[in-house]
Amino acid sequence: MEDCLFCKIIAGEIPSKKVYEDDDVYAFYDIDPQAPTHFLVIPKQHIPSAAAVTPENSMVVAKCFEAIAKIAKEMGMESFRVVSNIGEQAQQSVFHLHFHVLSGRDMTWPPG
Ligand code: C5P
Repeated sequence: MEDCLFCKIIAGEIPSKKVYEDDDVYAFYDIDPQAPTHFLVIPKQHIPSAAAVTPENSMVVAKCFEAIAKIAKEMGMESFRVVSNIGEQAQQSVFHLHFHVLSGRDMTWPPG
């Protein structure tokens, strides 16, 4: 999608620190980390948020979670949090579906 920041990151038009890539998924370190380890896992297909997941595109969500499990295993992450913000009230700032993966510190619940 033309004006999407994450589509530009996937295309290499905006630099990112890559964690993982396959045919369907791209993962990179968040530029403003909220934990010692904080990366984003995104589908290469442009989907605005988790609220736009349908039977036609939901397979890429499964691919994202396969990637998360694989990366976590490779990084030796035994405990971590996966977050997806949906809409402005929930603090979504980039409207391309992404999963924050946070690890390396004690977490609190409920989140703020
Ligand atoms: O959930 P939200 O939409 O706010 O998350 C977007 C995330 O994208 C932020 O954590 C922000 O730091 C990150 N980001 C990034 N690289 C950019 C622009 C934003 O990692 N070039």
